[in-house]
Amino acid sequence: MSIAALAPSYIRAISPYLPGKPITQLAREMGIPVDSIVKLASNENPLGMSPKARAALEQAIADLSRYPDQFELSRAISDRYGIGMDRVVLGNGSNDLLDLAARVFLAPGRSSVFSQHAFAVYPLATMSAGGECIQVPAKEFGHDLAAMRAAIRPDTSIVWIANPNNPTGTFLPYAQVRAFLQALPENVLVVLDEAYNEYLPPALREDTLAWLAEFPNLVITRTFSKVYGMAGLRVGYALASAEIVDLMNRVRQPFNVNNLALAAAIGALDDHVFLAESFQLNRRGVEQIVAGLKRLGLEHIPAHGNFVTFRAGDAAGVNQRLLKQGIIVRPLANYGMPQHLRVTIGLETENARFLEALEKSL
Ligand SMILES: *Cc1c(COP(=O)(O)O)cnc(C)c1O
Repeated sequence: MSIAALAPSYIRAISPYLPGKPITQLAREMGIPVDSIVKLASNENPLGMSPKARAALEQAIADLSRYPDQFELSRAISDRYGIGMDRVVLGNGSNDLLDLAARVFLAPGRSSVFSQHAFAVYPLATMSAGGECIQVPAKEFGHDLAAMRAAIRPDTSIVWIANPNNPTGTFLPYAQVRAFLQALPENVLVVLDEAYNEYLPPALREDTLAWLAEFPNLVITRTFSKVYGMAGLRVGYALASAEIVDLMNRVRQPFNVNNLALAAAIGALDDHVFLAESFQLNRRGVEQIVAGLKRLGLEHIPAHGNFVTFRAGDAAGVNQRLLKQGIIVRPLANYGMPQHLRVTIGLETENARFLEALEKSL
């Protein structure tokens, strides 16, 4: 008998997450010096983290022998949004929170609904909890909310919505999301994943946190990995009703967010100068990349985050030729998009190097 047979079949059916290729791995594989590699593959902030976060982190190094205390970051988030502390859960990245929601509300015999081409963690979290995945065909690469509504079964307990979505960059106008929530039975949870919320132009924004008062079945997740530039520290938060938060806290590891991440997140939260700078850099970068793609005659999906997804025809071949020139982007075959590549917005010079290398790769 193989040991693997001991694992439940739903665990054995999981395909592992495929991360963006690390810089050090490409350096080893191709013998390219680390310094000359440009990684635009994981939607990281090219400015790094806020100087205030870094200063707070450096101070926190003195206290690493102590177990973490989540109080201060929870309070800072609660103060910032005017939401009770009993409605905040902290996660080791927002990925952790998606997993907690799945462990609380899914089990064998239950299902979750998500869109084709949506974030890869939704099926992972669902299957880890023994739930069944209901994947709904996308509409123009985005979520088709009417079809998702129709796909809900009596055994469905979670609907996952990423807005904006990764890896497509598509965005659902908030009026549609709100109408979806209003029409949904209260015994189905919606996890609204807003990892790219801070990159939305002001005209598209909406105070979704205010919806929490109205919808007791809503969970909103945010992260310090994207605009805050702290992907390597792993910290995110979820906001939901006190009842949901209580349940998520029961399955949460007591010390799931480490001291350095907590300190840096507190430092980062209100660094509005850094956030504005990151937002502006991204806006200019999207324009630069989109103009470059148009010049090369390549079609792209309208971008709403810090990345652009474009059709490259033989995307696997183009990706290989980009790698040889030291440029790492994200191939999307495992997202059911074998002709597309996703490029993260970098510094102006990095975007320019990507476009130059892309031209040579076509
Ligand atoms: C990056 C991302 C996340 C969060 O990642 P963490 O680093 O775990 O916070 C969540 N959802 C989407 C759609 C993402 O792209």
